[in-house]
Amino acid sequence: MRILVIEDEEKVANFIRRGLEEEHYTVDVTHDGKTGIDMALKGIYDAIVLDLMLPGKDGFEVLQELRAADNDTPVLILTARGSTKDRVRGLDLGADDYLPKPFHFEELAARLRSIIRRSSVQKSSKLVVGDLVLDTTAHLAWRGDKEIELTAREYELLEFLMRNKHRVVSRTMIMQHVWNDPYNAMSNVVDVYIKRLRSKIEFDGKRFIHSIRGIGYRIKEPNGDE
Ligand code: CA
Repeated sequence: MRILVIEDEEKVANFIRRGLEEEHYTVDVTHDGKTGIDMALKGIYDAIVLDLMLPGKDGFEVLQELRAADNDTPVLILTARGSTKDRVRGLDLGADDYLPKPFHFEELAARLRSIIRRSSVQKSSKLVVGDLVLDTTAHLAWRGDKEIELTAREYELLEFLMRNKHRVVSRTMIMQHVWNDPYNAMSNVVDVYIKRLRSKIEFDGKRFIHSIRGIGYRIKEPNGDE
């Protein structure tokens, strides 16, 4: 599970990050709304924790732009205590829940679990590329009726590629989203894992993962399957 935290107060952001990481979420933090929108639109987050008072674009604008772009990632907004007006406005703009500041971490975690559960019931949990299917609830991969055994890292890499179907993803993006390590883009670990994934999913010679020389990788339907 990957959570995006958009919160300009470093102390609060770190508090949330630490707590969520202890609960085994992967957490990305940004301190401004504009970057928050760009990150959220990649569509790789299971939920977003959104502070309302942000420099530049505030939380309301962030929420509005996400929903206008058909991004339906569940959003938990952080509001000032007692500010009914903010709460109502946030919910009207498409927030899934709100939490007044200051809050106990346990409550934030419980509310996040609840909005993630609700949204995963609502939306299909399957990613499909040709006859390759990834069930993101059960964490299983299939080619036709053959189940493909993947390690946790291979699974995350495949999920990232499939969520970006038809788009080229760079090694840096992969390092950032699968390994949480954007500064290690020169490492060949990505290529090693891509090779392993290929040997597992392209067992019959059908090509799903394409290397784009000097840039990265793209997953698409094998030729003739489109
Ligand atoms: Ca703030």
